Amino acid sequence: MSSFILLKNAEVFAPESLGKQQVVLAGGKIIAMGQEFNFANSLLPVTEIDCTDFYLTPGFVDSLVHFIGGGGEGGFATRTPEMQLTDATLAGVTTAIGVLGTDATTRTLTNLLAKAHALETEGISTYCHTGSYEIPCRTLTGSITDDLILIDKIIGVGEIAISDHRSSQPTTEELRKVAAAARVGGMLAGKGGIVSVHVGAGERILQPLYQAVTGTELRVKQFYPTHMNRNRRVFEAGIEFAKKGGVIDFTTSTTDYDLRHGEVEAAAALAEALALGISPMQLTLSSDGNASLPIFNEDGELQGLQVGQVKSLYQSFRDAVLKHKVPLTKALTAVTQAPATILGLSAKGQIRQNADADLLLIRKADLQLDTVIAKGQIMVQSGQAIRFGTFEQG
Ligand code: ZN
Repeated sequence: MSSFILLKNAEVFAPESLGKQQVVLAGGKIIAMGQEFNFANSLLPVTEIDCTDFYLTPGFVDSLVHFIGGGGEGGFATRTPEMQLTDATLAGVTTAIGVLGTDATTRTLTNLLAKAHALETEGISTYCHTGSYEIPCRTLTGSITDDLILIDKIIGVGEIAISDHRSSQPTTEELRKVAAAARVGGMLAGKGGIVSVHVGAGERILQPLYQAVTGTELRVKQFYPTHMNRNRRVFEAGIEFAKKGGVIDFTTSTTDYDLRHGEVEAAAALAEALALGISPMQLTLSSDGNASLPIFNEDGELQGLQVGQVKSLYQSFRDAVLKHKVPLTKALTAVTQAPATILGLSAKGQIRQNADADLLLIRKADLQLDTVIAKGQIMVQSGQAIRFGTFEQG
């Protein structure tokens, strides 16, 4: 493997448009960007990649993935399987944040952390949230604050469930305590310390968050509600939350059933929120990869299960640009700089000197993903995986 990669003639979206640049990678970092670099007389091993036909963008940051699987709400046989490395890389995801979910009994934080380390070894960057849907939170050390301070990969809490029949129906006081612990842990560890919030289809929508914030020093920005495109009412509640300074996340994994029953397609939700004047830095897309997606018949009876797909993140990004005419910079922001900033991942989600060398080459002609570089290593080339997880077919 070469120690240097020179990306030539790249049209850079960082995610802001930076025009044509040459970009030099080494040691897993972007070490230089500029107009002209000449390695012709160098003894250093250099791999040159001509990027003329491509946009060069940051690798995607997927803020919510059940990478050890999730679900199980229909009994043991409905527990969804683990994510594999190429599920992420073939979707352009170079940073993934793992969470538990409904089940924190047969799925554990120790298992989640082990999987995060496995994926990191296989080549992408991973982080986790402590806790699950449940309050009081399950933690690794016995304390949310201690988990954030003492465990490198733990950067926040969640997804805590509210307004959902699977939620543990937390009181206002309980939500406050979780947010306070996450804030202090995040500050002391130099991490985001946000609380990821699973928002269900219940009537109260975001009311529990407003109640938690009111009369305290907590800010709405501490909470990061997801599934805000679940239905029209939830979407509108999300817009109100964003107008008050909050950040909101739209889920890209979906089923035909959900779309027929009022779910707002994530790409459409992003386009509409931007058109309503919400800042791109307050809007993110995440895949909810490897979550269970129940399929119902017209009578509402459970017919089967599908599994959330990380690849839906890339499809939604592409739909946002091609179908919903979202400018490339803004669509990219929702899957790179915005989630990285919200989560406090300062070396992620942007192309600039000293950032991690997590990059995509996207074909200008049709926005198909061509090349994925994670921590300076080429994972996907010409749309095909060239590096595989330990138990994937190589
Ligand atoms: Zn959820």
